[in-house]
Amino acid sequence: MMKTKVDSLSHEEIKAILRAADEIIASGGRTLLAKILKGSKEKKVLELELDKCPTYGYFKAEKINDIMKKIDWMIDCDFLEIQYSGKLPMIVYTERGWHIESDQYADELLNEWREWVRKGKQNPDMSYLKDRNRGMILLLLQKIKESGEQAFIPYLELWEKVDYKKVREEIRKTIDVLNGNEHVNFSTVRERTESIEEALKGVEPSDLLLKCWGCGDRFIFSLGEQQFYKNKGYSHPKRCKKCRDDENNEFYL
Ligand SMILES: [Zn+2]
Repeated sequence: MMKTKVDSLSHEEIKAILRAADEIIASGGRTLLAKILKGSKEKKVLELELDKCPTYGYFKAEKINDIMKKIDWMIDCDFLEIQYSGKLPMIVYTERGWHIESDQYADELLNEWREWVRKGKQNPDMSYLKDRNRGMILLLLQKIKESGEQAFIPYLELWEKVDYKKVREEIRKTIDVLNGNEHVNFSTVRERTESIEEALKGVEPSDLLLKCWGCGDRFIFSLGEQQFYKNKGYSHPKRCKKCRDDENNEFYL
């Protein structure tokens, strides 16, 4: 399979693609993701309200095939991966991809709160934060603590009424920090910034040397093979080619 190389994407582009992927994670594939970024007006896109995504149309000037290549680059460099849901290949985050996305998503939520404060919004329905990814929610609370903004306290109090115990406890701590009754640990800010910078570097795809579970020999898992496996949603092969041929069994791919 011929692959046209994509120049490295900028950090901003990587984040834009990760943000769009958030709308369809584990429920849509590469094509749908490309359509969000293209700003497609297709029925399905509009029905799913994907046009509300902040990075909808981010690559509107580009051809859909070129956007697909960028998405493949994201997969090759370990930001996104394909997972099969039955026969359907779905986009999911890698650990690296989620690390970046959860941080920018928490920022997005925080900025929305700032907007509420600015507009004097009262009594928002806070149940929208319930059942979100717990790690992202705890990160949001950490960022609220760091913000020191007492104007957030009424929102926190409303939120406290609707969420689960574990989250409630953390909300309470956050309120205590904003009231100046507890101190916030700022050393995590720098650590977090550095880890995001590191994650944004991605991995340069290269041949891998794997150890065969059958014969114990080392074997090369080439870049081309890796891309093939990734696009099929397979994990790394467990056995070398010789052992696989010996078994003559597709299941050991
Ligand atoms: Zn072997």
